[in-house]
Amino acid sequence: MNVLFPALRDGSPTPALRFGDRALDYGQLAAVAGPLAERIDRLTPGGTPRLAVWATPTLETSVAVVAALLAGVAAVPINPKIGERELTHIVTDSAPALVLAEPGTTLPEPLAALPRLDVEVTPSTDKPMPGPLPVEPGDEAPALIVYTSGTTGPPKGVVLPRRALARTLDALEDAWQWTADDVLVHALPLFHVHGLILGVLGPLRRGGSVHHLGRFSTEAVARELSADGTMLFGVPTMYHRLALDAAENATLAQALGRARLLVSGSAALPLTDHQRLTAATGRRVIERYGMTETLMNTSVRADGPDATGTVGVALPGVYVRLVDDAGRAIEESDGETVGEIQVRGPNLFSEYLNRPDATAAAFDGGWFRTGDMAVRDPAGNYRIVGRKATDLIKSGGYKIGAGEIENALLAHPSVAEAAVTGEPDEDLGERIVAWVVPETGAGRPPSAQELADHVAGQLAPHKRPRIVHFLDALPRNDMGKILKRDLRAAAPPAGA
Ligand code: ATP
Ligand code: MG
Repeated sequence: MNVLFPALRDGSPTPALRFGDRALDYGQLAAVAGPLAERIDRLTPGGTPRLAVWATPTLETSVAVVAALLAGVAAVPINPKIGERELTHIVTDSAPALVLAEPGTTLPEPLAALPRLDVEVTPSTDKPMPGPLPVEPGDEAPALIVYTSGTTGPPKGVVLPRRALARTLDALEDAWQWTADDVLVHALPLFHVHGLILGVLGPLRRGGSVHHLGRFSTEAVARELSADGTMLFGVPTMYHRLALDAAENATLAQALGRARLLVSGSAALPLTDHQRLTAATGRRVIERYGMTETLMNTSVRADGPDATGTVGVALPGVYVRLVDDAGRAIEESDGETVGEIQVRGPNLFSEYLNRPDATAAAFDGGWFRTGDMAVRDPAGNYRIVGRKATDLIKSGGYKIGAGEIENALLAHPSVAEAAVTGEPDEDLGERIVAWVVPETGAGRPPSAQELADHVAGQLAPHKRPRIVHFLDALPRNDMGKILKRDLRAAAPPAGA
């Protein structure tokens, strides 16, 4: 199993990576990544070295990561828009021996102080003559150190062995019927699991190809899917825009309708967006659920029944269970009993870097505690109701998932975006607080009372928001995830 990319070793002249108008086939990729791997190997002698990759959404970043994987040196992809404090934390924590970047990039401190290797990608137009590629290390060798999104706290460095990469990508091959003929349309950043591992390494492991748009736009998605794109990976904010535009733009609707597979992940895709997309394109978006620590856990299957509104079933080889507050496994598959998702399987990380305490605390026996709460239906589909830390509101003796209330708010025609949190309340324990971005151009903005009544009418009286704040935008990170811990700071002053 320790050859990660068999097609690269074959060096065939079939397309591998394309970013804008620059492309490499497998032969050319082997011819650039092979020698780069040798240079990395020479510059990082001894121990278990690491290197940092300045992860712009480019061909260079993808080549750098492939070369690091060939060399057996763990790569730490770094968000090029990262703040100074976070960068210092990541560089100090991961102590890279080397940094890889595109030629001409000005790197900030403390990265600028590291030995640097420029990644030059100039594929020869002659038939490339790749030398033999290095022998790859064993399955448990660290392949990547990916920092979590920092949605709930400071990002943690997640050490991912080669085994986790290979096994997750092979499970997705099965669930998505992913083949060498697939052309992935991709516009995600390359420093998280979704864009880098699924979006770049996934197609390369299959021997298929990636078309990266550089920057997301609904026009570019329409163009690529109308050309030869077969799959699209996106985050909910992208599908939201695609859903709105597809309702007005027949070319986009047709392009999405032609795609073999539309996959959403990284956060929940609201039901209204699922419905809008299906109404405009006749297609369903499938959701998958994963984390930096576990890579992929569940997915709606390409060959399975409709499971819209869920994140599907456990992937092959992955064990998933729900656990109650007392730590007991929940046997019910009634679609109602809420528990924490715990997972076990070959897709799991090895440890949090330099954090044995956090690593130990994250496990319950061999089971990884995801911190995500869900229910399971009789068909084995999981529906995520929210995160334990931020999305589970204990109010008036009930446990209420924020996601359900967010979906109800989004079903109101005057609501563009919605987030729900709990805040301390003397009577109720916690009270439900809604944060709403009104739809622009929808006429009169909705009143707080109207929205609270709407939720109570759709769900149940105890799920009525007690407070509704109106905002111009929700605080989100680069994956479009709502940063609930920043909402409080966004609150208008009392009485406003
Ligand atoms: P941090 O751990 O630093 O707070 P994070 O958990 O957002 O940040 P990631 O590892 O990138 O960092 O994200 C994993 C989380 O994303 C999951 O725990 C889950 O809450 C959420 N998630 C991923 N896919 C889905 C999905 N399809 N539906 C709902 N939530 C999802
Ligand atoms: Mg997390």
